[in-house]
Amino acid sequence: MKVLKFGGTSVGSPERIRNVADLILKSGRNIVVLSAMSGTTNTLVEISQYLLKHNVPGAQETLNALRRKYHEVIEQLFTRPDISMRVRETIERSFSFIAQLAQGEFTQAEEKEVLAQGELMSTVLLQAHFEERGVNCVIIPALDYMRTAQGGEPDMRYIASHLRRLIDLHPEAQVLLTQGYICRNAYGEIDNLRRGGSDYSASIIGAVLDLDEIQIWTDIDGMHTGDPRFVEHTRPVARLHFEEAAELAYFGAKILHPSCVLPAKLHNIPVRLLNTMQPDAPGTLIANFPPDGTIKAVAAKDNITAIKIKSGRMLLAYGFLHKVFETFDKYCTPIDMMATSEVGVSVTVDNTDHLTAIIDELKSFGTVTVDTDMVIICIVGDLEWHNTSNFQARAIQALGDIPVRMISYGGSNYNISMLIRAEDKIKALNLLNQNLFQ
Ligand code: ADP
Ligand code: ASP
Ligand code: MG
Repeated sequence: MKVLKFGGTSVGSPERIRNVADLILKSGRNIVVLSAMSGTTNTLVEISQYLLKHNVPGAQETLNALRRKYHEVIEQLFTRPDISMRVRETIERSFSFIAQLAQGEFTQAEEKEVLAQGELMSTVLLQAHFEERGVNCVIIPALDYMRTAQGGEPDMRYIASHLRRLIDLHPEAQVLLTQGYICRNAYGEIDNLRRGGSDYSASIIGAVLDLDEIQIWTDIDGMHTGDPRFVEHTRPVARLHFEEAAELAYFGAKILHPSCVLPAKLHNIPVRLLNTMQPDAPGTLIANFPPDGTIKAVAAKDNITAIKIKSGRMLLAYGFLHKVFETFDKYCTPIDMMATSEVGVSVTVDNTDHLTAIIDELKSFGTVTVDTDMVIICIVGDLEWHNTSNFQARAIQALGDIPVRMISYGGSNYNISMLIRAEDKIKALNLLNQNLFQ
């Protein structure tokens, strides 16, 4: 058995929903994880922002536009009036639920409930479409098994036992359908696995059930050498090691949620990235491949801040680095990249919630300089240091005259990271793609 995850664009219109249903039927009896229809989660975020700012008319107008869209989809998707009416009533319950939240004080817990409606609605549409086609498709509600523990990590034991029990209730089902992204937290409240989290849902399911494969179906034929939104002439990468895929996902390759590779890697379950619009394309296979000494792809992580702490006596004054890291630790702020010298250390962060307090404390250890609007460019591949393909020089040369603020290599064999200004990002990504992959 496999788990097949379909992203927002794969279920973005009635035609796509029919298409996805065909693909699912061809694949046999599997678990299907669905995202919200494309644009829905963004719209739900927008509605929540209006409600948090007490702009009820703004929320209502946006909600009504979304409601109209769903009614159009229902009209076009279904031919049987009984099914169409039942689906309309179910979807309408989601909309009235959100509308009713506009009445009182809007809390963050309610925001999570609003964000959950996208996946709850998309699964209702697909399940009813299968019903119209005479296919026995059962919804396994994610809110009944997907759960995070204290600290926010998935509670794998809980998920495994509850999911197994729910699946065993439906031996006759041809398709086992579930919602991606949504879950409950340790207190049983509705929560989510962060934006793009349906990939993570699929990977968790694949891992806890020890399935044969995790398939991520999206709108592109696999992981490309660069981000096609910014880079010309990218091409798909046929094979990636788990570690390479994890680096790319963490450092900005949007095709995969940053946490999605870990459960698959720990359970050694292959992950295949496939294109719903081009189902026969080979896509990308992520597995435990032996080293092949090649550069695979480049990703970019935006909104990075670099902090340099200079101290005249860094290496002699032992304990300096400890104090610096302790400060970030105290404010629960992870560090992405670091570079050291005799006189100081530079680190980067993407979470600036506590930056003012952190800088204030760091000033007692040395002189602090901050650079904002930076981007980490991450070159990923099997880059072991004895490898003679000269990858470091090629990466640096490719950037030409673009100023590089920090360079980091050696934390693993899988990446070289370079910190540059945000304004140079697109040029840098295109130069790297031309020089490393063409
Ligand atoms: P889904 O809605 O199916 O989850 P996403 O939008 O989250 O789809 O991810 C697919 C998108 O990721 C692609 O359309 C592409 O624009 C973007 N992307 C960014 N970097 C890469 C990359 N290196 N390879 C492929 N796609 C990438
Ligand atoms: N619907 C959610 C989002 O847009 C989860 C996902 O698509 O993976 O973030
Ligand atoms: Mg996604």
